[in-house]
Amino acid sequence: MALKINEDCTGCGVCVDIAPDTFKIGDDGLAKVIGNGPKAQEAVDSCPVGAISM
Ligand code: SF4
Repeated sequence: MALKINEDCTGCGVCVDIAPDTFKIGDDGLAKVIGNGPKAQEAVDSCPVGAISM
């Protein structure tokens, strides 16, 4: 099971706020996966555009 962020990401930062050990905003302004912390699922469920899958 691997976390993935698709092209629908808007860079809103919600996932980073929820799970900063798992996501960061990259140089392009969009979210990147940097780990797989305990709140990853909550971030997946909270992404407003459903861009994260796992
Ligand atoms: S919550 Fe979703 S849209 Fe917002 S930065 Fe994270 S992946 Fe992108």
